[in-house]
Amino acid sequence: MYQPAYQFWHPMLHPNEMKVREPVRIVRGEGCHVFDDAGNKLVDGIAGLWNVNVGHGRPEVKRAIAAQLDELEYFQIFDGLTHPRAEELSNLLVDMLAPEDMKRVFYSSGGSDAVETALRLARQYWKVAGQPERTKFISLKHGYHGTHFGGASVNGNHVFRRSYEPLLPGCFHVETPWTYRNPFTEDPDELARICAEMLEREILFQGPDTVAAFIAEPVQGAGGVIVPPASYWPLVRDVCDRHGVLFIADEVVTGFGRTGAMFGSRLWGVKPDIVCLAKGITSGYFPLGATMFNDRIVDAFDGNADFAGAIFHGYTYSGHPVGCAAALANLKIVRDENLPANAARMGDYLLAGLQPFVDRYAAVGEVRGKGMMLAIDLVADKRTREPLDPTAGHAARVAEIARQHGAIVRPVGTKIILSPPLVLEQEHADVIVAALDA
Ligand code: PLP
Repeated sequence: MYQPAYQFWHPMLHPNEMKVREPVRIVRGEGCHVFDDAGNKLVDGIAGLWNVNVGHGRPEVKRAIAAQLDELEYFQIFDGLTHPRAEELSNLLVDMLAPEDMKRVFYSSGGSDAVETALRLARQYWKVAGQPERTKFISLKHGYHGTHFGGASVNGNHVFRRSYEPLLPGCFHVETPWTYRNPFTEDPDELARICAEMLEREILFQGPDTVAAFIAEPVQGAGGVIVPPASYWPLVRDVCDRHGVLFIADEVVTGFGRTGAMFGSRLWGVKPDIVCLAKGITSGYFPLGATMFNDRIVDAFDGNADFAGAIFHGYTYSGHPVGCAAALANLKIVRDENLPANAARMGDYLLAGLQPFVDRYAAVGEVRGKGMMLAIDLVADKRTREPLDPTAGHAARVAEIARQHGAIVRPVGTKIILSPPLVLEQEHADVIVAALDA
């Protein structure tokens, strides 16, 4: 039995697993590489955890953090207080999300916080707007929205839910338009139509005057990189509009270029009412989350003179100066180096490199992706598309062997997930493909 030399619980893992395997200790990062404590140089095929978009060790971000620590390490933004970095970043975000009509930012510490803020302020919006009975949330099966009770309640995968139930009442899940695995049709547009109709039916079944919001990821990440048909999001926007339901885009992974567009919503030409951001906002150099709101919501709060419009929500680390400084430096790199374009280009390159696996290997059912979000779907039967036994650890074994061949990839159930830094170059992609081939 292996005895770990440390005393923390690994998230998303049974503690006993660490009694039978040794941890991999990452000690240093540089560009698209990380180094383990045995000195092995590994291509970071997962950008930390979907977030180190500008790559490891960027001096521009480190310098901005150091300068901010020298100037002001922390002060709060409650009670009418403010500081320059929180102001500058909010203006930059409103500028970057101008095509989505986003007008105001609420800061937090990460993705789960950003989702929680979206859900709480969506409920409050309806109270402020005079429809207090609109409290329910609808989301997609296979969706992932973090670990707070609100986010877990709208999560669409039972493994993130069952140990923590009962969750929030009033949360309902509808079918996700997954072209590879659905009982309806192989035709993407037909599937989009069917799934949008199922959302509408659910809203009608619940009673539109009781539904606060629909929340979804533009491309589902943790659920296995599920890319919806292009017609799906516009149809969903129409359904939400027909019934007055708020549309929340959880862009915690897709925000800031990962899909090949600066924001995932933009891929589908859709303007949400609320956008959740984290991860790529600082590329992981400092924890930060942000939730953004459009005029519809901002005006309702601003135009409400009652006590109900006061925002009794906020975190000690809302607008942390060091996080905001890290974000400003990081987003300058994302824009100056046009990282969304590189994500699109290198994503296509990776996809082309991995696609032959479908013919080469009996267990590879599908390789799919959008930009720098990719997945290899491992199946027991290619014809029926039945997944491999998720408890048998095949994906974990693939990841282990890939690491021995120089690349870190992420096993999630029966899928291998890739989400490299957006600064990836061909030489790194070649290592990832060769390591997975091995
Ligand atoms: N939303 C999405 C779409 C995510 O993928 C994640 C994390 O992976 C979260 C929310 C939660 O973010 P965090 O882990 O920073 O709390």
